[in-house]
Amino acid sequence: MLQRNLLFLILAPVGLLAAKRPNIIFIFSDDHAANAVSAYGSRLQDVAPTPNIDRIGREGIRFDNCFVTNALCGPCRAVIQTGKHSHLNGFLENHHVFNGDQQTFPKLLQKSGYQTAVIGKWHLGSDPQGFDHWNVLPGQGTYYKPEFRTPEGKEPGKVGSYVTDVVTEKSIDWLNTGRNKDKPFMLMVQHKAPHRFWLPPIKYLKEYSEKIYPEPDNMLDDYQGRRSAAHMQDMTLRLSMDLAVDNKMVPYRMDHMTPGQQKTWLEHFVKIRKKLLKAKPRGDELVRWKYQRYMADYLACIRAMDDSIGRLLDHLTETGLDKNTVVIYSSDQGFFLGEHGWFDKRFMYEESMRTPLLARWPGVIKPGSVSMEMVSNLDFAQTFLDIAGIGIPNDMQGLSLKPILEGRSPKNWRDAVYYHYYCYPEYHAVRRHDGVRTERYKLIHYYDLQEWELFDLKKDPHEMRSLHFSDGHKKVMDKLKEQLASLRKQYQVTEAPPLRTGKTLFPPLKEFGTFLIEN
Ligand code: CA
Repeated sequence: MLQRNLLFLILAPVGLLAAKRPNIIFIFSDDHAANAVSAYGSRLQDVAPTPNIDRIGREGIRFDNCFVTNALCGPCRAVIQTGKHSHLNGFLENHHVFNGDQQTFPKLLQKSGYQTAVIGKWHLGSDPQGFDHWNVLPGQGTYYKPEFRTPEGKEPGKVGSYVTDVVTEKSIDWLNTGRNKDKPFMLMVQHKAPHRFWLPPIKYLKEYSEKIYPEPDNMLDDYQGRRSAAHMQDMTLRLSMDLAVDNKMVPYRMDHMTPGQQKTWLEHFVKIRKKLLKAKPRGDELVRWKYQRYMADYLACIRAMDDSIGRLLDHLTETGLDKNTVVIYSSDQGFFLGEHGWFDKRFMYEESMRTPLLARWPGVIKPGSVSMEMVSNLDFAQTFLDIAGIGIPNDMQGLSLKPILEGRSPKNWRDAVYYHYYCYPEYHAVRRHDGVRTERYKLIHYYDLQEWELFDLKKDPHEMRSLHFSDGHKKVMDKLKEQLASLRKQYQVTEAPPLRTGKTLFPPLKEFGTFLIEN
């Protein structure tokens, strides 16, 4: 039998083999909180639904417990490329440059006959390697008239264009005319949205500014019940969110817009600014005002992305590509949408550590499946390789999700995930920490501060009261410390680099912000 299979492999035309191996489209966004994906059923599901992302889960599977290992843009991307934790792939912080010479999953796919492409946000500093085609945003890229980078150099932005649409158009173009249709492919469609500074497309400015967004219960959190890191951060709506730039009360980054776009943009924001100057909200009222503004822009960026994902899914259906293509949606990590009074990510708390993950694979994934297993972005590389039928290198550190996609419940699945955030001093002043999350508990170690936090996620899902001091939890805490030590050993975690000297780059602003003081 084995010999017959071998003979088949040798004699079969390439096209026939290609037909048997599924294509993979990995749609990836930046800072898209699970709380802003309506399939996850959050407080925002009715006011800002994401029907097309939801459709992937409805026609396939939704993972309810997908966690990242280090909630920061660049590091998450490096984990996905390598299937290794940050300390092994070498990309610990955003200012690092990814060493593209190391083993990555696209190189392995390419070697086995897959055609590989990445379009959109790359954000790893060095040029992409292992891709037959790459067309990426320089650094963070711009929302309007985005420039791109290719192996040949810079590609100027198209007048009037919007980044989310361009990423999708380029992806569809590549599917239509760019690829070798005899080969299976892996296409990474990587959106800039909804990354800060949340510049929505003109068409959604008004609609999203007129909605009223439900607030999270802990938006006015005073951080009692947490250790010092939660008090010392610089990512509050109250103090850190900038009225001028984040809330767009002064014209910002409009140089990429057409005169027509600039005009509509200005008219829109001048109206809002007038109302603000009249109302002059202060204290908690200003926090509430900023939250509404923040959600209007953030969710409008997501609306445009959801539309464009719908276009891509429709294209797959129209061309019949959907039948043998696995479509996966995820974000590089989560985001605080006013929970704890915050925006941004970085902390090991649920909103930033959790990331959306949905997948569709006709004929394999049972539609409407939901997995509660603890999975991770550490698993993505191995999953891609496994889907393609390629052996997984021993030094990758995740687990293939393919058995879960196939509806099997793997025995002895992981019962804990390891997390490590390294980036301090830096924007938002989140102290370095590592920790372990199990189904029930979370233990966080702020090692530079020699402080621990312990949360019972069942009784305290919003992580408002650390139980590190509680005698009743001593046993749990000791067990988690053991688990943390064992995970550190399993993943070969090395000592964190010496703490950098220097202050955080941007100290908190005065509450009322420079803009309103001047006015
Ligand atoms: Ca990100």
